[in-house]
Amino acid sequence: MFVITGPSGVGKGTLIRGLLERLPELELSVSATTRPPRPGERDGVDYHFLTPEEFDRAVANGEFVEHATYSGHRYGTLRSELERRLGAGVPVVLEIEVQGARQVREAMPEAEAVFVAPPSGGALRARLIGRGTDAPEQVDARLRTAEQELGAQSEFEHVVVNDRLEEATEELAEIVSRALRSR
Ligand code: 5GP
Repeated sequence: MFVITGPSGVGKGTLIRGLLERLPELELSVSATTRPPRPGERDGVDYHFLTPEEFDRAVANGEFVEHATYSGHRYGTLRSELERRLGAGVPVVLEIEVQGARQVREAMPEAEAVFVAPPSGGALRARLIGRGTDAPEQVDARLRTAEQELGAQSEFEHVVVNDRLEEATEELAEIVSRALRSR
């Protein structure tokens, strides 16, 4: 299992798309969230969109491997997304924020974790504003969280700086293929 973490807006999603193109045997786990869908996002594809009550129920039933609150919404990795694939020997990729990544590391120390870092704080702000998916107050909240998250990068065995997309994708793919080869 591979955990890709790092601040919101750092480009985890884009890097993972490139990773999945290079290593098509990988599958991405679809997370659950209480965040409302953004235009174009599809339930069951981008996220499993849950009400806060449904999310609470899933927590109480032990359905999550990890879950965290991020910018006022809840996010979590469903056990069902992992078990089915790992049971069949399919390597799974998680795209999650730092608190969740820590929980996964506790629960599954064999998981390989990669922290994606921005080349600078300014680059992160520009990206969060540029992608236009979040309201200005959401961007500010995400940047405040990002500052704390950046402090966590030394906890992770691999750090990929997402300066030039092509190089960063190559570096990520190399980390993952090396781990797959050594299984
Ligand atoms: P967004 O709202 O931009 O889709 O996601 C916000 C943050 O939540 C991102 O850093 C994203 O990686 C993270 N995230 C997405 N799914 C999960 C999950 O299942 N668990 C945790 N802990 N974080 C997640």
